Amino acid sequence: MTDAIDLSTANEFIARHIGPRDADVASMLELLGYASLEAMIDSVIPESIKGSSVLQMTAGLSEADALAKIKAIAAKNQQFTSYIGQGYHGTHTPAPILRNLLENPAWYTAYTPYQPEISQGRLEALLNFQTLIIDLTGLPIANASLLDEATAAAEAMTFCKRLSKNKASNAFFASQHCHPQTLDVLRTRAEPLGIEVVVGDERSIDDASAYFGALLQYPASNGDIFDYRELVERFHAVGALVAVAADLLALTLLTPPGEFGADVAIGSAQRFGVPLGFGGPHAAYFATREAFKRDMPGRLVGVSVDRFGKPALRLAMQTREQHIRREKATSNICTAQVLLANIASMYAVYHGPQGLTRIAKRVHQLTAILAQGLSQLGYGVEQANFFDTLSIASGAQTAALHAKARAAGINLREIDAERLGLSLDETTTPAAVSALWAVFADGQSLPDFDALAASVAARLPQGLLRQSAILAHPVFNRYHSETELMRYLRKLADKDLALDRSMIPLGSCTMKLNATSEMIPVTWAEFGNLHPFAPSEQSQGYRQLTDELEAMLCAATGYDGVSLQPNAGSQGEYAGLLAIRAYHRSRGEEQRDICLIPQSAHGTNPATASMAGMRVVVTACDSLGNVDIEDLRAKAVEHKERLAALMITYPSTHGVFEEGIREICQIVHDNGGQVYIDGANMNAMVGLCAPGQFGGDVSHLNLHKTFCIPHGGGGPGVGPIGVKAHLIPFLPGHDKMARKEGAVSAAPYGSASILPITWMYISMMGGEGLKRASQLAILNANYIARRLEEHYPVLYTGSNSLVAHECILDLRPLKETSGISVDDVAKRLIDFGFHAPTMSFPVAGTLMIEPTESESKEELDRFCDAMIAIREEIRAVERGEVPADGSPLKNAPHTAAELAGEWNHGYSREQAVYPLASLVEAKYWPPVGRVDNVFGDRNLVCACPSIEAYQEA
Ligand SMILES: *Cc1c(COP(=O)(O)O)cnc(C)c1O
Repeated sequence: MTDAIDLSTANEFIARHIGPRDADVASMLELLGYASLEAMIDSVIPESIKGSSVLQMTAGLSEADALAKIKAIAAKNQQFTSYIGQGYHGTHTPAPILRNLLENPAWYTAYTPYQPEISQGRLEALLNFQTLIIDLTGLPIANASLLDEATAAAEAMTFCKRLSKNKASNAFFASQHCHPQTLDVLRTRAEPLGIEVVVGDERSIDDASAYFGALLQYPASNGDIFDYRELVERFHAVGALVAVAADLLALTLLTPPGEFGADVAIGSAQRFGVPLGFGGPHAAYFATREAFKRDMPGRLVGVSVDRFGKPALRLAMQTREQHIRREKATSNICTAQVLLANIASMYAVYHGPQGLTRIAKRVHQLTAILAQGLSQLGYGVEQANFFDTLSIASGAQTAALHAKARAAGINLREIDAERLGLSLDETTTPAAVSALWAVFADGQSLPDFDALAASVAARLPQGLLRQSAILAHPVFNRYHSETELMRYLRKLADKDLALDRSMIPLGSCTMKLNATSEMIPVTWAEFGNLHPFAPSEQSQGYRQLTDELEAMLCAATGYDGVSLQPNAGSQGEYAGLLAIRAYHRSRGEEQRDICLIPQSAHGTNPATASMAGMRVVVTACDSLGNVDIEDLRAKAVEHKERLAALMITYPSTHGVFEEGIREICQIVHDNGGQVYIDGANMNAMVGLCAPGQFGGDVSHLNLHKTFCIPHGGGGPGVGPIGVKAHLIPFLPGHDKMARKEGAVSAAPYGSASILPITWMYISMMGGEGLKRASQLAILNANYIARRLEEHYPVLYTGSNSLVAHECILDLRPLKETSGISVDDVAKRLIDFGFHAPTMSFPVAGTLMIEPTESESKEELDRFCDAMIAIREEIRAVERGEVPADGSPLKNAPHTAAELAGEWNHGYSREQAVYPLASLVEAKYWPPVGRVDNVFGDRNLVCACPSIEAYQEA
């Protein structure tokens, strides 16, 4: 008899996503002393929450079937030519950037560059981004991206509040010429802080002293270009600060905000090569004056030196700000938009100053020609001066013109019943201008494009023409051929460790596989070419995608409703607390403003609570790392009248399934509060237990952790929130959605274009695969804990000596016995080709390891072998055989340059760089030695240093 051949399309994806093979699972279980996976999981999950998952155990689709299904969904999106503008513009992603960066796992699977020695490539790309922003805005310091233009504006508002000298005022002026979505987010963010946002016409401000700060838009949303010099002086005269939302392409031709006195410039870098993507993700930027640099939100790349005095990059002082300053942090931004910032920076590297200026001039000239032609056709263009945007008094024709445009596959901006708007962009062609005229012509003959092109003058305001040069640094002038750019991207990627080289065992960050099939739809034009404010009938594919994804996430979490709008975990936290706040208010309980937060919480939690206008009360943890239930009860009771919420991470940030979670939730509910469960650790729970079923009222998920969106080197992220039914009415809304609650992001669906990643993951895994992923994540973590515990004590476990999906190794005793610190171990791991685990969070002096289900047993063993070899090196120090300072641990990581130079260490070159024989065959060489953080913070340099600086070093 022959074996039967299975003729169904087999779903192999689950086994592709999950690292260990069946035999590996068996041997890992044996080491742990369990007869089956079920038995082990059964003893990890506490009795009280067992069986709370509501996920259906469906089978997943094969990769081919899932791709076919999402292709059909994508096909329901209609790709119109959008002239809607309003901060979102068509752009050409240069093909070498598309393939070698956006679609390249060396770039998209990288982690946030907290370990600078293995991140020099992406740090250089980010430094280029900062330099680009500094040059274009004319302000001396810029950060490495924020989440979107609207939230950047909100950050600017609170920044002005902190730094303004006009302390008497609580009012922020926002120009009516700002993009409407920016005004929406400003209002949302101002209200809980008691800031009054006054929207008005900046040309008729009576009393500037009424405001602590102002936001202006340049060019204005309607296309006007105002000279703000005098206005800025008026604000400055009363001690108020001025933020300007500026268009980067326009700034290549216009006087930059820094030169007309602005204190802050913010905006979007989307039109520098990043697809529209139905609203995101895109990088926002934030630039300010030198004097304010230490108050800047977000992350800042700075230049420092390494152990050899050579220039080396690293994240500057703000980086761990929330973890240090907690509720006093300046901002809750954690994950930002690194991948998108890098695309924008490479767009500028590729085009260079002349190329960017040429693009800007072309767009402007086409707009001028368009305007002239429209005038010939009898339409009044409202702007005397403009860059790329026009408002047209279309009167009674307005509705008919929109209809005609749509019939021609064109979207115009809907301003009001009598006016419409148009913004041209890099993708606009002469033929497209003629097609626009055809919409307006109504039987008249079309203007003669060539004749107008020969005669039309530029319409930029003479007094605001840019005089200063841009992008003089060599990096923007070297890589203009594709060969050069390709090699530059490769050179930078080669400096870095990402998931395409080795596991990244970051506790709390869930660096799992970002499968290729999940990534493929992201760069399809059907998802990339949609304007976020296009008429809803054009985005039916997205509608289906978001509806299905919301349902999937409800099933995975046990909640009743989901909002996909928040574009990072921090923003989800914010949206969740706002929902809680609005819920209390709807019941007449405005006074509820106390937020309990356990001491072990992630720094974004307290930072977010203060942004939501809540007062943070910290609760204790016991010696086992669990929430001290009695302390929590006492504080909940003490604040019974004012208790708004508890923010708690589950499983805990200590990597343990706390048994008291149901009781904890009950205590909070009994005292009138709502329970916010931080879902960053959802990877331990999907399919096993559900926060929405064991007491949570709201949770955020990090789709860039649990649900396979890659980290991108520090973003993009998506931080949707799930809520119980009573909170659904308080989910974030948007002017462009049926729900009108305040918006927390510029676009209705936040970072919509990366949602296909999670849709694909869940569709391919099915309920069965998702559950298995959680089980394997827990198995892998426990395997590592067991293999390493005799070398490094595991700090916390549950009552059965098991951890959840991550484990904390306690290195504090080693510091006592050997002088070797977590830092030394982290840096030594680089010599072994590994990214360090999470350092000193949530407990100083520890390493938190999260292997995820995607890592094979071979990789786990390779990592454990490295950790054990490092332990042996520490033992040699403990035994007094090697002085701590003379050990490879203190000098790590070792560079190739050091190896070739004079060797004066007490250990061999082999021990330095090939501590395990297996490394000879494939070695990662860090480009710099250990980076000096203190030097960099004292001598803050946040733009590309001159070539001479490198030569001197
Ligand atoms: C990652 C993380 C956050 C913040 O998420 P971002 O997407 O980085 O803003 C919040 N809480 C915990 C426990 C986390 O691990």
